[in-house]
Amino acid sequence: MQSLPLSKLNDFFAALAAKQALYLPVDNGGQAQFQPWKKGVKMSRALNTARSAKDFFFPQTENLVDFKMKGKNIEIIDPRTEKEDFVVFGVRACDARSFSILDKVFLADPVDTYYKSRREHGTIVSLACTRPEETCFCQTFGIDAAAPEGDVSAWMTEEELFLQANTEKGEKLLSDMAEFLTEAGSEKVEAQQEQTRAVMKKLPLANVSTEKFNDVDLMKVFNSPKWAELSSSCLGCGACTFVCPTCQCYDIRDFDTGNGVKRFRCWDSCMYSDFTKMAHGNPRLTQLERFRQRFMHKLVYFPNNNGGEYGCVGCGRCLAKCPISMNIVKVMKALEVE
Ligand code: SF4
Ligand code: SF4
Repeated sequence: MQSLPLSKLNDFFAALAAKQALYLPVDNGGQAQFQPWKKGVKMSRALNTARSAKDFFFPQTENLVDFKMKGKNIEIIDPRTEKEDFVVFGVRACDARSFSILDKVFLADPVDTYYKSRREHGTIVSLACTRPEETCFCQTFGIDAAAPEGDVSAWMTEEELFLQANTEKGEKLLSDMAEFLTEAGSEKVEAQQEQTRAVMKKLPLANVSTEKFNDVDLMKVFNSPKWAELSSSCLGCGACTFVCPTCQCYDIRDFDTGNGVKRFRCWDSCMYSDFTKMAHGNPRLTQLERFRQRFMHKLVYFPNNNGGEYGCVGCGRCLAKCPISMNIVKVMKALEVE
């Protein structure tokens, strides 16, 4: 474990940003958002960002390929520009775990080379939580908010920042920044962890459990009469999917530029009525079916196909953002699967 005094934090950020692009949570319009570090920028004290760190590796829109027409010839251009290393500082434990879920999707065969290249270039410095919110339930999925994953784990106290490398990338980052760091004992971190874990136990959602979904009969959940009631007020706005760090559906479209074609992809949502629409029409015609798909995927299909790992990290964003106050916790509690 290494540490630096918070009085040196800005110098640390400046030196890090001089080596590679550095992003950190900054208050903007009443919400925290990841932004590039620049002189004078203050790190947000908010618990988490409005949008997750997923955007760095799987952005909301991106160009995949350009086709340029020259007479009868078509030139194929790879528009990728991400060739530089970057650091994302201050990723919370829930979002840090989301990469294990996204990796299973994007790095499985056939590998998504756009995502892979960003994962290779990006170093994640996670930051332990100290003031979890009432909507947090990461512990339901075995995540310890006081011991976040990532290339480097960090803990901030009133006076110091503690850092611990977990991967080769993390070790390189700390060795590059060695002039700012000194070896430190783990006592202050352990004291903070104990406090945070005690707070986590008292949170309103501390007892939300996935137990009933372990080895559940898929068709029993699918056919539950509860879906009708749960989905009846869903507006199909997709807000829950867009703020979710683990949602990974996208659409690919072509845009006619006049002298060629731009092929781009953008996030999509299983809550939308035209999602996965094919030549024969849409496979899910009602909001009930679309709503059920989202939660079946996170609670049943994904764990069934990925060694029991659920497709949710308990970040609480969908609890805070849904305009009708519907969310995965309500679904988990309401479903009768016995
Ligand atoms: S489903 Fe909701 S709580 Fe779970 S990871 Fe997505 S936004 Fe967070
Ligand atoms: S945010 Fe709420 S209303 Fe909107 S699609 Fe999700 S569950 Fe439905």
